[in-house]
Amino acid sequence: VIYREPVRGSLKETHLGVRTSSERLKAGEDSGAIAVKNLYLACDPYNLNLIKFSTQLGSPIPGYGVARVLESGHPNFKKGDLVWGITGWEEYSLITAPESCFKIEHTDVPLSYYTGLLGMPGMTAYAGFFEVSSPKKGETVFISAAAGAVGQLVGQFAKLLGCYVVGSAGSREKVDLLKNKLGFDDAFNYKEEQDLDAVLKRCFPEGIDVYFDNVGGRMLDAVLPNMKLHGRITVCGMISQYSLEQPEGMYNLMNILLKRVRMQGFLVFDYYHLYPKFLETVLPQIKEGKIVYVEDIVEGLENGPAALVGVFYGRNVGKQVVVVSRE
Ligand code: NDP
Repeated sequence: VIYREPVRGSLKETHLGVRTSSERLKAGEDSGAIAVKNLYLACDPYNLNLIKFSTQLGSPIPGYGVARVLESGHPNFKKGDLVWGITGWEEYSLITAPESCFKIEHTDVPLSYYTGLLGMPGMTAYAGFFEVSSPKKGETVFISAAAGAVGQLVGQFAKLLGCYVVGSAGSREKVDLLKNKLGFDDAFNYKEEQDLDAVLKRCFPEGIDVYFDNVGGRMLDAVLPNMKLHGRITVCGMISQYSLEQPEGMYNLMNILLKRVRMQGFLVFDYYHLYPKFLETVLPQIKEGKIVYVEDIVEGLENGPAALVGVFYGRNVGKQVVVVSRE
């Protein structure tokens, strides 16, 4: 509902009007924007940032998703196109800066993959592993939150390269997935292990070359003394710390010095120029069955809040997706 005419005295219906997003676009009122129908929404840890820092109370929360263009005021997009990028958690959205959206050209894979494997988390795994971690064939790789959206792909990339790969996750079901579906050499449930140092020593008697860190906190601290000389720690995320008022203490940082470890953080947004190269690499691997992907799909926006919160408690098994509409 729009405010159409200035109110002088009492409010009348003629002061207001109903305009659809398509009508606004056609009238050039939102030039450069696209009106979309949301199909799949991603539950990403990043949603917490978006909610805290760029959402007004009462507005739909923003987040990554897959959508169909209904009307376009932007030269790069036309009606019927499928896109992935930041949209709203609602049935229909007006995306005012569609330049940041990616057009979906390959539809012979599940569309929901563009919230995970072929979207932001997939790019994160690719950039974080190949561009930041300097991995080599034969090296030992450890991944935390390994059964999640990013971790499961990092593990598969590392296996394809010829590394020895171990993952940690927070349930027996996830450990089983890692070992029996995702091809990890070994995996453990960190919630059942009292002594993380001991389990890491058991899995990596000669040490870790690459630690792909998704969690930070006590796992990172336990990894530090188990790094090999000249090992690399790729800081992808620190989900164990996001909800804490005070970050946990670190006791083993000295190992970075003693072992000459390189510890590097990165943000996927700096690597989106590699997206076409990423697709070229990954699409054939999916089609040949060399890469598989586990999704945890819930139906309906009304189930979105519980699904999103669940990611911060490890309730998701694989990439958590919310279906808004399948067509
Ligand atoms: P996931 O799909 O892996 O979901 C999050 C998982 O984190 C949960 O399933 C849970 O798995 C684990 N987790 C939740 N709370 C804790 C905790 N307190 N301690 C330890 N583990 C916890 O998420 P993503 O794969 O999308 O993201 C993984 C990491 O990558 C996050 O830290 C995220 O912020 C980061 N990220 C960074 C990007 C970048 O540009 N650098 C871009 C995208 C993501 P479990 O059962 O193992 O506990």
